[in-house]
Amino acid sequence: MIKYLVIGDPVAHSRSPKMQNAAFESCGMGSPYGIRHVKPEELPEFFEYARTHLAGVNLTVPHKLRAAELADTLTLRAKQCKSVNTLIIKEGLITGDSTDGVGLERALMHNFGLPVKGKSFLFAGAGGAARATAIHFACAGAKRIMFLNRTASKAFEIIEDIDNLQTGCFCGFIDSKEREFLAAELKNTDCIIQATSLGLKEDDPAPFDLSLLEADMQLVIFDTIYKNTKLLQKAAELGIPCAGGKEMLIQQGAESFRLWTGMEPDLDAMRAGFELPPGGVEA
Ligand code: NAP
Repeated sequence: MIKYLVIGDPVAHSRSPKMQNAAFESCGMGSPYGIRHVKPEELPEFFEYARTHLAGVNLTVPHKLRAAELADTLTLRAKQCKSVNTLIIKEGLITGDSTDGVGLERALMHNFGLPVKGKSFLFAGAGGAARATAIHFACAGAKRIMFLNRTASKAFEIIEDIDNLQTGCFCGFIDSKEREFLAAELKNTDCIIQATSLGLKEDDPAPFDLSLLEADMQLVIFDTIYKNTKLLQKAAELGIPCAGGKEMLIQQGAESFRLWTGMEPDLDAMRAGFELPPGGVEA
């Protein structure tokens, strides 16, 4: 019986069902994880269904911000980033949590051995994913976080939220047209996090001028998209350590699994599940 769902609009491309069911199966719990297309206007009604029929939910675009308003209660990290990607449902009470930040933090450790504490980051993007992960990084002891984004006001909203948390992390905005500032920042940063949607489509432009990247730069590059984007191709060409978003998806899903079951998931089984064709049982 389906007790867990991933919901989104669209959602058919989601790899979560195969990945999560691989973890459930390796614990002898069958395949209780399905998929449902939920439009934004259907979200309140879905919450009432989930309250009585489900034990857990993952939420993807565009539900993460609205879900933070609809949940009965939020964990501290979901409150801090005002975003929810996981619902934990126990005895009719819906708790919202955000595992995107810890997922990215563990992916950086897995891919590069890079801790968040004390490090400097350059985020390209200021949407939901950048918001949840950058606020988590500030709370986890990042030294400095700079943002590039097409819409400056969205980056400033995140910067204000981080400043209000008084974490001691220095934050700022860089206009990608200001080439000199960006070039200087690239020399100061330990890690670029690509968190825009640019790269999802084959003909998308790069998120910033890639000719500013140089082979001897002491940084690593993580693209949250799990495709070989132009940014990743350029980094590989220059010999800059780089990784795509697969491990972030695995690690944020693994954290959801722990929250639901209290059990440690088999990460290698989840990685193998990720490689299967996307989609799952519609329920
Ligand atoms: P979102 O809230 O819709 O934000 C989209 C971001 O991309 C914004 O910063 C937006 O800039 C920028 N953008 C979109 N189109 C652009 C364009 N034509 N030119 C310049 N900038 C553009 O989406 P999200 O949830 O943050 O997701 C962002 C990315 O993270 C997606 O690629 C998603 O696949 C990835 N992601 C990966 C994982 C994982 O586990 N690996 C998890 C979550 C998300 P504006 O603010 O100017 O609109």
